[in-house]
Amino acid sequence: MTRAQLLHILQKFMPPGAEVYAADLLIHYRIQLHIKKPRATKYGDYRPPGRGEEHRISLNKDLNPFAFLITFMHEIAHLLNHEKYNGEVAPHGKEWKQHFQLVSMPVFEKEVLPPDVKHALGRYLGNPGASSCSDPYLFRTLRKYDANPTLLVEELPLNAIFRMQDGREFVKLEKNRTRYTCKEVSSGRIYLVPGLAQCEVVIKKQ
Ligand SMILES: [Zn+2]
Repeated sequence: MTRAQLLHILQKFMPPGAEVYAADLLIHYRIQLHIKKPRATKYGDYRPPGRGEEHRISLNKDLNPFAFLITFMHEIAHLLNHEKYNGEVAPHGKEWKQHFQLVSMPVFEKEVLPPDVKHALGRYLGNPGASSCSDPYLFRTLRKYDANPTLLVEELPLNAIFRMQDGREFVKLEKNRTRYTCKEVSSGRIYLVPGLAQCEVVIKKQ
């Protein structure tokens, strides 16, 4: 694939101004980019090369342009971690975070992100304590740009019955920090479900 063809594809998925940077990274590190149909469990992933193979990054094609770019940089940070530490550090530890900061810098300078996304990403990158893969504030900010946002458990009223992506149905009970105590309809068993879990409403009861 030529650089022009690569840019043409990236333009469809990334905010204007980011595609040149992304193409340069893909070419420089010889990365195979796989754009996949939506997967419920992840937005993207990085696979280190086997012998004689190339780095591989996959991204879900339904991500909005800002989520696509940020997930791309998230995976590039995994690649840099692999190059430098070869799997000897935690996947989302401080080394990964430093790489994520480094990769994000040109994107901050290029003004390709809207102010709220920029703020949310900056806040996430600047918080040394936030080592998890997805930050709730960043997640909620990025979600505003989805064409058809899916419903989150935290948005439902209490006592609503909802269905998770695996088909199981629950009643939403009380809040428990970032999660909700929920009762599975079929078994009556109690589970803690993250507020940011995606779901569908079955019945709404106020
Ligand atoms: Zn990750």
